[in-house]
Amino acid sequence: MFIREINIPVSTIKGVGPATLKPLTALGISTVGDLFAHWPRDWEDRTKFHTLADFDKHGKINIAATVVSQEWFGYGKMRTLKILIRDATEMTAELVCFNRPFMEKQFPVDSLINVYGSFRYAYGSLQSSAFEIEHKNDSSARVLPVYSLSAGISQTQIRKIISIALREYGRGIDSEVPEKVRTENDIPAKQELLHSMHAPATMAEAQAALQALIFEELFIFEYAIGQRSLERRGRLPQTELPEITAIAQSDVEAQHPATAAQHPTTAAQHPATLLQLRLLDRLPFPLTPDQKIVLGEINADLASPAGMARLLQGDVGSGKTLIAFLAAVGICESGGQTAILAPTELLARQHAETAARLLEPTGMRIAFLSGNVKASGRARLLERLLNGEIDLVIGTHALFSANVRYSNLRLVVIDEQQRFGVLQRSAIIDKGRESNAEGKNPHLLMMSATPIPRTLALSVFGDLDVSVIRTMPPGRKPVITHLAVQGNEGKVHDFVRRELAAGNQAYFVYPLIDPSDTTDLTSATDMFKKLSETVFPGTACALIHSRIPEDTQRSIMEAFRDQRIQILVATSVVEVGVDVPTATCMVIEHAERFGLSALHQLRGRVGRGSKQSYCFLVYAKNLTETGKARLRVLHETNDGFIIAEEDLKLRGPGDITGIQQSGYMAFILADPIRDYDLLVQARKAAFELLESL
Ligand code: ADP
Ligand code: MG
Repeated sequence: MFIREINIPVSTIKGVGPATLKPLTALGISTVGDLFAHWPRDWEDRTKFHTLADFDKHGKINIAATVVSQEWFGYGKMRTLKILIRDATEMTAELVCFNRPFMEKQFPVDSLINVYGSFRYAYGSLQSSAFEIEHKNDSSARVLPVYSLSAGISQTQIRKIISIALREYGRGIDSEVPEKVRTENDIPAKQELLHSMHAPATMAEAQAALQALIFEELFIFEYAIGQRSLERRGRLPQTELPEITAIAQSDVEAQHPATAAQHPTTAAQHPATLLQLRLLDRLPFPLTPDQKIVLGEINADLASPAGMARLLQGDVGSGKTLIAFLAAVGICESGGQTAILAPTELLARQHAETAARLLEPTGMRIAFLSGNVKASGRARLLERLLNGEIDLVIGTHALFSANVRYSNLRLVVIDEQQRFGVLQRSAIIDKGRESNAEGKNPHLLMMSATPIPRTLALSVFGDLDVSVIRTMPPGRKPVITHLAVQGNEGKVHDFVRRELAAGNQAYFVYPLIDPSDTTDLTSATDMFKKLSETVFPGTACALIHSRIPEDTQRSIMEAFRDQRIQILVATSVVEVGVDVPTATCMVIEHAERFGLSALHQLRGRVGRGSKQSYCFLVYAKNLTETGKARLRVLHETNDGFIIAEEDLKLRGPGDITGIQQSGYMAFILADPIRDYDLLVQARKAAFELLESL
């Protein structure tokens, strides 16, 4: 029987009455199985003894002592027992036994005792009133489990209930993991793990059991991923992700042959199609080696019966959009439609404009769709989509709204995928499935410029294949990043002024649209006034944020791209995707208010052309050392993967956008980042088992 199958109600355990049942229910425990799976969150090591002198080194100390004397203080109901104890170093302390008068008889003078508790100095003597006490030889359990509790139940009570349950029902328990896998990975039988977790003899035993349970949890998770993948496309996802290393710009040329050599066959076996070649011929530059490899991988997917389910990771500016276009071209050639989904109107519009420029000359029919596309034009557009008169539609959430139907949607591209939740992803995929008679899944290409650290990609997107673009287009100079404390903006402005004089452009980014009464953060609206009137008078400035009407936003972006505007004052609307190669300065005020990945994205708006670009992070005067250290990461590296790993360490995976919504991260004991090595081991074991079946 598996632990979860033990359906015996906890109320049958001796000692569980109505009073304990309530707090147990609050902990989600109603059966003995639930009780067993209420794993300790920690253990207290009472095999090691301290001396009283250590009282302020640990929260609680564990000491062996002798009872020296007893005395009473207070009167009537308040009468309280005090027990004086002495440890092996002859140091003494008082145990104040509030509401425990029975201890007088239980621990008479000269008793040898073990005490576990916290001590402090009060009225000139070392005292404890929060302690556990027992006779020296009372208990053999020297490592005690520590459980999560709810109001109405104590550690001692729950320990007792679990130990009774273990004695009565802790046998005949099966492991969810097959024996072969357990033997190969040194995982003890489940029954043994159960006892080692709840009643270990040593800390080492408890820790080893915990590791084994984590392995089991990850194994089951990876097994499910493998199964899902086998059902969907008849094969397992790639086990290995390519190693991601920071590559200095000067090394890029030298790296080219090496990178191409890593995937000798894919690119060669799946060369560009005719229409793709026609597009490539029109480009003023060749594909980077990584772009070539990824195109090969995508063409291989498109040709395979199971189709594509791929995550394309690539740092800001690595050229992912072009890859999406090339995939769309391939689909168009075989008579299918493509939808490219972008998180903001600004980005969708920009993609649509680039697509019109690059793809329309190849004969592709392109459309743009957002919530703001007006009624008449919209009706006509939807008709053309349904009639198959459009090959590529680019847009926002509108792409999967109820009245939008496709004639044969074969490829779904989700740009900046971390901005979308699982439901939105499946909504657009459903549109594809509904658009063909067989109900076939469309190919899926998810793109991310907030690089998901490799460790997480492996677990969060476990059943996707992963491609990575590491090499940047040649000629890019890494952005130089400076930190400046608030009050020193003068110098930053002087610098920007010189750049503007040289014909370059700048972004100024603020955390708020409008000034707020509750914070003293500077806002985009206020600063637009100040920058355009006082700091840079006579310079063409514009203000852009999410509340500015869509067509105004659009004409502002056009003017900025055409260099009719020199300074763009903005909020984080410009964070994703915006591509204006002539902008060389990015000034971010209140930089401490942004996540590291967001700052990296914002910085990625400059350095897109061949000119040297600069990023200034202006931080608040009172910023802590840790806060500064955090910003310094950006000064030190331009590698989005390193920054994302840092961000992850600082904030934890739950906070990283996209992972929370992914719905995959429901582990009880495991933490895929902390337990990365086990994750890799479990994934290997699960896939090997699936392959052998
Ligand atoms: P991201 O990966 O951040 O989405 P984009 O697709 O916006 O990056 O590309 C950034 C810029 O690089 C664009 O201006 C694009 O035209 C350019 N680009 C893409 N591929 C290449 C290449 N192989 N060589 C030179 N420039 C390129
Ligand atoms: Mg992009």
